[in-house]
Order: sequence, then structure tokens, then C-alpha cells
Amino acid sequence: MKVVTTLEELWEARQALPNPLGFVPTMGYLHDGHLSLVRCAKRDNASVAVSIFVNPTQFGPNEDLESYPRDLARDLAMLEAEGVDLVWTPTAEVMYPPGSQTWVEVEKITKVLEGARRPGHFRGVTTVVAKLFNGVQPQRAYFGQKDAQQARVIQRMAQDLTYPIEIVVCPIRREPDGLAMSSRNTYLNPAERQAATVLYRALSAAKAAFQAGERDANALRKIMEDTINAEPLARLQYVSCADPDTLEEIHGKAEKALLSMAVYVGKTRLIDNMLLGTGKETF
Ligand code: AMP
Repeated sequence: MKVVTTLEELWEARQALPNPLGFVPTMGYLHDGHLSLVRCAKRDNASVAVSIFVNPTQFGPNEDLESYPRDLARDLAMLEAEGVDLVWTPTAEVMYPPGSQTWVEVEKITKVLEGARRPGHFRGVTTVVAKLFNGVQPQRAYFGQKDAQQARVIQRMAQDLTYPIEIVVCPIRREPDGLAMSSRNTYLNPAERQAATVLYRALSAAKAAFQAGERDANALRKIMEDTINAEPLARLQYVSCADPDTLEEIHGKAEKALLSMAVYVGKTRLIDNMLLGTGKETF
């Protein structure tokens, strides 16, 4: 497994790898969710590259950039064990050369849900992913349904900028009790960790109602809200029942929907989602 930092090293290592190449962008502190993307990429491609970069431009001024968990040695050992060919660990200077003033911005679908609560977040994501794509030049790139809006935004960007890259979205990996795996779960103390199952419980309750015939978007949102509000350690930021394609909130009947939410458990902000009525687990 080759580990590179500079663009020159990356270009040289990339040239030596067979096509098609599958690419998994990450911020590190890897868990089974990340590894599931790596395994999908290995299955579909002749070679696999992973990037590890905690991208400063996608964090807001009051977010957790400084405290975001990092353990490069552990990450590299995990990727080596998966048979990854190339790992790119750029520095901030490599990704953002001094004097940088160019951004990639997807307009409409970044204004709702996470984008409404984290101004500038998706501009940071699309800018860094565009640069990662330019550097790695993969044939396929793998993203998690866990960050459903991010997956939609990247699909949009890849289409709009005519990247010759297939965007593959992989299912959410969960802990046995339903908590979606996330590097940020490490912030939770034992009581919070228990309370954090409330996101999956809320989504599952709404799904059960949908399967029993409930189609009213307000009613589905209310079921999720009530479940979250019944958990003393949880504070709801938003719940949504949105069109899975446009991500616009549904008013009236939901024949298919993306249920999603952001919830603070203690000081930790967690997100989760579930697709209903599309016959698929992912976009
Ligand atoms: P991150 O390192 O948090 O930026 O995540 C890197 C990639 O892994 C993103 O495409 C995420 O959507 C994906 N990912 C994170 N957690 C999970 C999970 N629990 N299941 C599936 N994919 C995930």
C-alpha cells in the first residue's frame, strides 16, 4: 500500500495503478462504515484509493475542527488490512495553496436540511471533493447514505461539472443497537451513547407507521419529534420528511420520502436518515 502526501507523489502513484480505480474520500478515524465503502470499491474495481483529510473549509467557526478525532497510524493499518492500493493524506497547504480563491458551489439542494443549519458546509465539501477527484482521477467514487444530502450534492456536482466518474452510494452501517456508525460517536459518554439510539428509534417508529399505511408527512415528522423529545439527553435540531430527489420538505402525502434528522446528544451533534417507499436502501 502506497501512502502519499504531495500532488506530485499522488500523480506518480496513480499512473502505476490499473483502471478502473475506485476512490473513497474520508476524514479518517475510520470505522466499519468507511470500510464498507472500501469493500464496495474493491469489489467493483481493479484498484482502490482512499483519501484521509480533515477538510477545514467544511467546518463552521463553532464546530469541532480542532477536536475532530484523528489516528493516522490506526487508519493506515486498517486500510492495509483491506488491501487498499493507495492512500492520499494531503496537508491543508496541498489542498488549498496559498492565495486560493476558487470554490465549487452547488446551489439549490445545498440550501435545505444540513445546508440550512451549517452555512458554508457544502461549499467546503464540494470544493474539496472536486479537488480530490481532480487529483485521483477515479472511474468510480464511493459515498455513504449516512450523509444522504452530501451524496445527493456530490451526484449533482458530478453531473453539472461533467466528471466522468460514477458516484456509488453505499448503505448506512449501524451498531447492533441501531446507532449509525460515525467518527463523532467517540465524543459520547456511556449515558449519551445509550441515549443516542433515539435517532434510529425515531426513524424506525416513523417507518413502522409508514408501513402500516400512514402517508401524512406531518404525522411522520410528529412521530419522530415525539420519540426524540421523550429522551432526556437528546435535543432535537430538526426532523424532515422530504422528497428523496429534490430534498424539498413534503407537505401533504408522502408516497416516497427521505426521513432525516439532526439531534444533539449532550454536546454531540448526530445525524441519521432512512429512505421510505423507494424500494431501495440508498439513492
Ligand atoms: P467521513 O469520514 O465522516 O467524511 O465519511 C467518509 C465517507 O464515509 C462518507 O461518504 C460517509 O457518508 C461515509 N460514512 C460515514 N459513516 C458511515 C456509515 N455509518 N455507513 C456508511 N457510510 C458511512
